[in-house]
Amino acid sequence: MPKSYAELLREAKASIREVNPQEAERLRVEGVTLVDVREATEWEQGYIPGALHVGRSYLEQQIEGAVPDRDTPLVLYCAGGVRSAFGAQTLQQLGYTNVASMSGGFQGWKAAGLPWTTPVVLSKEQQQRYSRHLLIPEVGSKGQAKLLESKVLLIGAGGLGSPSALYLAAAGVGTIGIVDFDVVDVSNLQRQILHTTDRVGQKKVESARTSIGALNPDVTVVAHEEMLVGDNVERIIAGYDVILDGTDTFETRYLLNDAAVAAGIPVVHASVFRFEGQLTTFIPYEGPCYRCLYPTPPPPELAPGCSVAGVLGVVPGIMGLLQANEVLKVFLGIGTTLAGRLLIFDALEAEFTELKLRRDPACPVCSDEARAARERGEAPVLSAFPVDAPFVLAGAGFGGTFGTASPLGSGPLGSAPLGTTPEARA
Ligand SMILES: [Zn+2]
Repeated sequence: MPKSYAELLREAKASIREVNPQEAERLRVEGVTLVDVREATEWEQGYIPGALHVGRSYLEQQIEGAVPDRDTPLVLYCAGGVRSAFGAQTLQQLGYTNVASMSGGFQGWKAAGLPWTTPVVLSKEQQQRYSRHLLIPEVGSKGQAKLLESKVLLIGAGGLGSPSALYLAAAGVGTIGIVDFDVVDVSNLQRQILHTTDRVGQKKVESARTSIGALNPDVTVVAHEEMLVGDNVERIIAGYDVILDGTDTFETRYLLNDAAVAAGIPVVHASVFRFEGQLTTFIPYEGPCYRCLYPTPPPPELAPGCSVAGVLGVVPGIMGLLQANEVLKVFLGIGTTLAGRLLIFDALEAEFTELKLRRDPACPVCSDEARAARERGEAPVLSAFPVDAPFVLAGAGFGGTFGTASPLGSGPLGSAPLGTTPEARA
């Protein structure tokens, strides 16, 4: 015998568990997944933070893909509590064992003053521009929206900063800060593809703004036309999600490292020398920091910059793009970063070598002790340039076991040609 809608709803509600918005919020805070079963147009008006969106029309088709484990606790919600009641009943029939429906729906949730958010909605133009990202499940419109809200700070608009700036801009990273006080020189153009011949003599930050603006108007360029020094480093890096280090002096790297660790901001570091490049990602307290790797800088004769030693133009291009790759992974939360790993690229042999890096438990910046002291407000004054100590490359080694610091010339890097000394100038 045919049933009326009212009977069907009564039956559905009798067969499922209902929770009110306050209870749903308590469950959400505990980590229970909320599933929004409204249509896409409703979702775009606002949703509960962290909720999964599977429209009621596609619930049966898509839920197994979205939540494969049928014992996962789920709370379904819609606008008023009807569609979610039917949805919960359907999920039970599909074998989901712990499903509830939120009474009152999203309207009741908002009326109760509980938190909600609106998604970044990609415009038609953005959907076309980023279509190749949208096709990748690991990125999709959610990931693209994340990129558009992300802020990266490039230290230097030179050899490493140029390719990374262009590709990060193309990828739709919404804010790109650039620290550089230099002007474009004709000798830069062999590798610094952000700049052009007709901009020789122009400020690099302005040249970068022009190139990035021409490529992608979605990107906001923040120009920091100043030298990174102790007095401004904290102010400049504040608010950025990731820093891409393309600096050319050890002094700046120590300065940047110490401030970034204190601020908890990951730094993607690279350096180049003739035919070689090095790359790693420093994630504060998760892996080593720059001082764990280089407790002391090398003497200048072992660390000539590009202006002295030269560099094959594509090497900073390759390393800069690998940096941009690390930055995108951090933003999207996908893949495995190079935290705790040093990647060395040999352009002549077309070979990559990987060294494992370890955190120095006595690191003056990122050790537990240093961190606790900083939290107590007792930050130690560190020398930006500890010249008195001999140069060592600590915490690095092939394979999985490393001893103590390896003096240059006998350590894993020291046995390699001069080119593997850890200096670089992009
Ligand atoms: Zn450290």
